[in-house]
Amino acid sequence: DRISDGLSRSRDKFKESMNVLLDRGPDLDEEFWEGLEETLILSDVGGAAAADIVERLRDQATRRALPDAYAVLDLLNDEIAATFTAGGEDILGGQPAVVLFVGINGTGKTTTVGKLAKAATDAGRNVILGSADTFRAAAIEQLEVWARRSGVEMVTRERGADPASVCYDTLERAEAEGADLVLIDTAGRLHTSADLMRELQKVVNVVRKRSKLPVHTVLVIDATTGQNGLQQAREFNRALDLDALIVTKLDGTAKGGIAAAVSHELQLPIVKIGVGEGIDDLRDFNAHEFAAALVG
Ligand code: GDP
Repeated sequence: DRISDGLSRSRDKFKESMNVLLDRGPDLDEEFWEGLEETLILSDVGGAAAADIVERLRDQATRRALPDAYAVLDLLNDEIAATFTAGGEDILGGQPAVVLFVGINGTGKTTTVGKLAKAATDAGRNVILGSADTFRAAAIEQLEVWARRSGVEMVTRERGADPASVCYDTLERAEAEGADLVLIDTAGRLHTSADLMRELQKVVNVVRKRSKLPVHTVLVIDATTGQNGLQQAREFNRALDLDALIVTKLDGTAKGGIAAAVSHELQLPIVKIGVGEGIDDLRDFNAHEFAAALVG
């Protein structure tokens, strides 16, 4: 399947290090536990999540008197799945909502909004798009292409306009049209990162104040950027108090474990994953499926 295919590079990398580790025998000695933790860290699941996983596995090995490394590895999928923060089903699960998408330029925000608009429209929902990236004319044009493709209305203003006003207009339009899903694309780059965070805070505040529908803030991160993605996520979460994550570009990266690191550290659920550039390449996230695809 697509998730398994998409994570094949991450999985190959993990299996390669695991094989090296098991070459020295299946004993559950200190060297094995350290090697396992290191292998998880190399797979980008992050230091905190890796330590947690190994601690829980050690605990089970003792309690259940597991005979060897193979018995431990049988439990690895479940433990990796458990490091993801659960929840977020209400965000893009079919309930009426306003969803604000934030993230650095190039992470796949606009593409993701486009894919979601198409999928939701196909599912019979009444969708409206807002393009609040007034800093970059190309961003508005790009979203317009997606809007046309799925026959969805898009609200925006001229380049340089106040993004909060675009959001305000979008919500008014959504109310007039009886839309039940409002997807708003925001800027991913301004003159400085502090400017960007200030602008996004203003946008989030205006939308929260004005919207009659529940408002969710979703960060889009690019898995290929590995630990940089985690850095960005921390900064956005500090400034905006995020509700969920979407991790894109899981195809063609060996850094897929970053999804676990971010979800674990920031205590945020992953609501969708991107596994390609095509319109169908946005998938529901399932922790067990993901863990299985990551480590095989
Ligand atoms: P934005 O600047 O955050 O709005 O990013 P864009 O939506 O413009 O996407 C940047 C590039 O990433 C485009 O070329 C997209 O086609 C590509 N992209 C987005 N999501 C994915 C994905 O899941 N996999 C792959 N391989 N490419 C993606």
